[in-house]
Amino acid sequence: MRKRILVLGGGGFIGGHLVHTLRNKGNWVRTVDLKQHEYGLVADEYLPGDLSQLEGMREALMRGEVRFDEIYQLAADMGGAGYIFTGENDSRLMQNSASINLNLLRILSDSYFSKHGRFPRVFYSSSACVYPEEIQATVDNPGLREVDAYPANPDSEYGWEKLFSERLFGAYSRNIGLDIRVARLHNIYGPYGSWNGGREKAPAAICRKIALANDVDTIEVWGDGNQTRSFLYIDDCIEAILRLMKTNFSKPINIGSEEMVSINQLVSITAEIAGKEINTRHVAGPLGVRGRNSNNDLVRGVLGWDYKTSLSEGIKSTYQWILTQVEQKISIEANKS
Ligand code: NAD
Repeated sequence: MRKRILVLGGGGFIGGHLVHTLRNKGNWVRTVDLKQHEYGLVADEYLPGDLSQLEGMREALMRGEVRFDEIYQLAADMGGAGYIFTGENDSRLMQNSASINLNLLRILSDSYFSKHGRFPRVFYSSSACVYPEEIQATVDNPGLREVDAYPANPDSEYGWEKLFSERLFGAYSRNIGLDIRVARLHNIYGPYGSWNGGREKAPAAICRKIALANDVDTIEVWGDGNQTRSFLYIDDCIEAILRLMKTNFSKPINIGSEEMVSINQLVSITAEIAGKEINTRHVAGPLGVRGRNSNNDLVRGVLGWDYKTSLSEGIKSTYQWILTQVEQKISIEANKS
């Protein structure tokens, strides 16, 4: 069946991939975002709009006669450690992201319900950043289980906002019967995402630094590089989100990889793919928690899904795409001068 779907934040990395897959499956998709997708993963209809403003959200949901079957809420103030762990953007990102979620639920529960008499199923993108700081204090993290989120103590305001919004969606589900799905995404990476400008995450930043490096070179890494993470390739992430939407599971669930590596290992994997000899110079920078990994027991059971792209396969395609972006940028700048 051809569904009518709204993707909030469809101009972003995960949103763009989601739109692309949903359209390939024959669905009709509207996206609303401050910007169009930069690399062409566009929807059937794009409405520019600021979803942190109530009127922007009203327009997103109410414009025309569209009765949506599904809504995917991916719009958020988002970035890598250089954006969310410096502390400099805390008030802005909490204000923006919380307002988007509050506005969505307000318009859905009043204007949208009055007009259409039913709710679409709603997906909310939470994050591994909700987990408490103290259980991520060592590099050998055994894997974060969903129940570990409480007692709560996220290490960033970004994580606190995600936890608040998980609870907000949960409250609307209990009080008005909203049909929700909530995923805690763990470090999603891949092509067609931020790779420069300050919001990029570690895999994209490392790919860019190595793409710009000489055949034998040194790149900067924040901290000692022993901090650990698991990274999930975008295609696996999209498949899990779509599967989750087909289940009846409405509690928060991890969508991540269990292949945990240190940042130094990530550099080595990327350098090998690039065919370069890369050394690291360790410098001070925002780090986040010491060790983070996903535990996928619940998601394996509920979705029958597990990550299938190895980090080295995923980095191979990400590196190729970022290399092309870097080369294009260099050639555009050379033509200007
Ligand atoms: P992204 O930054 O690429 O996409 C977010 C989009 O939201 C952007 O296009 C941005 O323009 C839009 N947006 C922000 N404020 C807006 C506003 N006021 N009005 C309209 N649009 C607005 O990020 P992403 O990596 O695609 O992440 C998507 C979602 O998944 C976010 O909620 C993010 O917090 C969550 N998440 C992502 C990861 C990850 O590793 N990428 C991990 C955990 C959770």
